Amino acid sequence: MDQIEEIKAKIDIVELVGSYVNLKQAGRNFKGLCPFHQEKTPSFMVNPELQIYKCFGCGKGGDAISFIQEVEGVEFREALEMLAEKAGVVLKFERKQGGGVRDQLLAVNEAAAEYYHFLLSKHQVGGEARKYLSGRGLNEKVIESFRLGYALPTWDGLVKYLVGKKGYKIDLLEQAGLVVKTGENKAYDRFRDRVVFPLIDHRGRVVGLAGRVMPGADEKAGAKYINSPETEVYHKSEMLYGFYQAKQAIREKDRVVLVEGEMDMISSFVAGVGETVAVKGTALTEGQIRLIRRMTRNLILALDADGAGQTATRRSIELAEKEGMYVRVVKVSGGKDPDDVAREKPGEWRKMVEQAVDVYDYYIESAVERYGGAQAQDKRRMSEEVVPVLARIENEVMRMHYAKKLARVLEVETEVVLSEMSRVGRMSVVRGENMSEDVSEVKDRGSGMERQILALLLRLDKEKGEGVLEEVVDLMEDSLQRVVKEWFGSKKEVVEFIKSLPAELRGLAEEAYIQEVDEERAERDLREVVEQWRKKRWREVMESLRKELVEAEENGDDERVAKLRDKVVRLSKKIAKV
Ligand SMILES: [Zn+2]
Repeated sequence: MDQIEEIKAKIDIVELVGSYVNLKQAGRNFKGLCPFHQEKTPSFMVNPELQIYKCFGCGKGGDAISFIQEVEGVEFREALEMLAEKAGVVLKFERKQGGGVRDQLLAVNEAAAEYYHFLLSKHQVGGEARKYLSGRGLNEKVIESFRLGYALPTWDGLVKYLVGKKGYKIDLLEQAGLVVKTGENKAYDRFRDRVVFPLIDHRGRVVGLAGRVMPGADEKAGAKYINSPETEVYHKSEMLYGFYQAKQAIREKDRVVLVEGEMDMISSFVAGVGETVAVKGTALTEGQIRLIRRMTRNLILALDADGAGQTATRRSIELAEKEGMYVRVVKVSGGKDPDDVAREKPGEWRKMVEQAVDVYDYYIESAVERYGGAQAQDKRRMSEEVVPVLARIENEVMRMHYAKKLARVLEVETEVVLSEMSRVGRMSVVRGENMSEDVSEVKDRGSGMERQILALLLRLDKEKGEGVLEEVVDLMEDSLQRVVKEWFGSKKEVVEFIKSLPAELRGLAEEAYIQEVDEERAERDLREVVEQWRKKRWREVMESLRKELVEAEENGDDERVAKLRDKVVRLSKKIAKV
């Protein structure tokens, strides 16, 4: 058995999913509210026999590994590692490719975070820092959940502890960016007299640190914030500060609020906006979007109101839209940072987040703020910046709404803006790409009725099903037809049968089997659905036969005409009989 199978065999999907979702038994399945989309009535099913899940609301489905990928927002390999840990399986491939160094870097970062956290939360030297943080509304619980710490003003506190007491090598500390080396076996601490924010990745591992200078600290103390350098375990472009703590709220609220720095994030979190994360930089990166997108497509940007923040906002919007996210923007009033507002007026902050405006309003308003003069040049600049953005809007009502709004701002007729918009042309917006994917998927997989037929069949005695379906099975869509015929020909019990299907058919069968079926009345339901579906299929077949017939007649293909006429007659008789 390969390791993936071994892990899957040791994990029970009902238990696994049940630790995230409240599940209730429903026949052979378990049922609950989908963790991947918002819903009030449960359409999320888990099947213990096949060890799979499927949401009939948003369409997500799969096995234990894909569930962890989705719910934790991690890649396949990470999901596998997490499950391996749960199952007590040691992954063999993990040791290859420098796994050793990564593990050591993680261990030393963890030890450093632990040390700083101890100083802040337990030791008297952390008193000042504790006072400072509690003055900012950060109580013990917050300090605990973000594992905040404090670094002493001395030059070698960490070195003494990690090297002297814990036996770590200076070279490893240097590699992790925790110290700066000055000579053979000599180094000083990178973080001094600072509040320390462990940078925790989406799996809860400390991959680096950030340090914020204490208020009133010496000017020589350097930058307000310093960070671990990039290492094998810390990549700035993939770090979203607070993501690990915010994950559940992001999922529940189906949105994420994006702020700039650690303190913004924590203050917003404390103010009750639990779905906040910080970019740790100015603009959003693709790596960060990937992390978010698994959880939600709704992004609310709340970057600083200064010039750099505004540029970052526009760049982030472009990238996020390209990646299929729906973006809104918080207008932080009074030129303040989210941190200030959230701390001073938590209620106000929550309101601002709720009132986030659509990106298009944001573009217009931000252009007005920057070029809002009455001069022709100002108006040209505004239109050059905003029109290409509005031209991307696909919905006609929205296009008109924003064209009018911009026209008012520019003091021109709406037609002028509209013609500018069509001149600029519609740039591609990836929005909605998924929707079209879904549609084509449905086409290949048969109609809803056909899938329901399969669902009922798999829950019924084979003989009963055959009796109902024998005459019409050939009318089914190809792959469904194959599943049905395989089933009729198989001697296996249903779960074994599904597992034995080739991969391209198994998905279909799994999806059918996990559907909720009233087993008591399955036979009656089957007859009813088959009846409806047969009529529909016959009409469709008749329609296409007639088209073919017309074509054949036009081409003077007599032989074909005769054949098709024959088919039409036979089908009409069949229909008449029912
Ligand atoms: Zn769902």
